[in-house]
Amino acid sequence: MSEIDPKEVAIIGLGPGGVSASIYLQRYGMKPVCYEKALVGGKVNETEKIENVAGIKSIKGPELGMLLEDQMGSFDIPVHYEEVKALTLNQDGTFHLVSSKGEKDFKYVILANGLAERPFPIEGEEEFHKRGISRCAICDGPLYKGKDVAVVGAGNAAFEEATYLASICSHVTLIARRKEFRADETVVKKFESLPNTTVYAPYEVIRAAGNSIIESITVRNKETGEQKLIGIAGLFLYVGEIPSTSFLGIEGLADEKGYIITDSDLQTKVKNLYAIGDCRNTPLRQVATATGDGALAATNIHSSYQKGE
Ligand SMILES: Cc1cc2nc3c(=O)[nH]c(=O)nc-3n(C[C@H](O)[C@H](O)[C@H](O)COP(=O)(O)OP(=O)(O)OC[C@H]3O[C@@H](n4cnc5c(N)ncnc54)[C@H](O)[C@@H]3O)c2cc1C
Repeated sequence: MSEIDPKEVAIIGLGPGGVSASIYLQRYGMKPVCYEKALVGGKVNETEKIENVAGIKSIKGPELGMLLEDQMGSFDIPVHYEEVKALTLNQDGTFHLVSSKGEKDFKYVILANGLAERPFPIEGEEEFHKRGISRCAICDGPLYKGKDVAVVGAGNAAFEEATYLASICSHVTLIARRKEFRADETVVKKFESLPNTTVYAPYEVIRAAGNSIIESITVRNKETGEQKLIGIAGLFLYVGEIPSTSFLGIEGLADEKGYIITDSDLQTKVKNLYAIGDCRNTPLRQVATATGDGALAATNIHSSYQKGE
């Protein structure tokens, strides 16, 4: 076990939740030790536009990601670009963290690692992964400028990203498994009102085909069984996300779906281990809730530190 500085707080993941926690901790005079395996900003980097964060009328997702990174810089909070590979409990109740570059012990840890992509098994998926099948319209959409694409999903992300794709692609087909969409009505209406869009519901994608890159998908009507072949150059999947906590070597932290359970202080059942944002069992997974969680967890940790807990 390495010597522990009780002011140091490990933050695993630097999406909006982790960044917010780091800023609050730094301002409280604590020492956030921040681990990020990819990009600061997390999932916001994968969305075209964000329009529901109070105080910011409209912002491109990657731009918000850069602002989050800049803000950490302005508070002199270093980022350890390392993947956390394991987190275990030491006998004295402190935590042992193993990252891709080393290991370190902490008194306090915040899990802010978000969610992973839900697998979408269809015939041909492996063959066309990254050769026509994408999970990020803002990253890959421009590759399909002037071409026909399809989007799979029925939530806000699916309809919003499909609306963005419709602004650059010649035609966008959205395929949803149910007739009742999870997306907000205004978001659905905006997409449906565009001249170059079609919605197939209730349909499922059963096959992707092509010659080294994707050229078509076969969809099936879930009520009638009727099949259609749709010619496309790109397929964008917005089929949801799942918890990803394989690095956690502490038992019993999650609910039956894998989301981390917290109390109203955002503490897990293990003392001094907190979970914030999308990774916890919350009814709303958004930038606003993740940043609010980050602020609250940081405040509770600071207060525990002051009490010597
Ligand atoms: C397409 C799309 C559109 C969206 N649109 C909106 C919107 O318009 N408005 C809105 O409010 N919200 C939107 N959201 C949701 C919003 O992006 C998330 O709710 C928010 O980013 C959650 O923040 P977070 O900090 O909990 O997690 P995330 O943003 O997911 O960040 C988690 C971070 O942890 C890192 N990480 C994971 N595991 C490890 C590890 N083992 N070691 C180190 N780092 C790790 C990841 O790389 C990631 O950077 C959208 C999401 C998507 C996918």
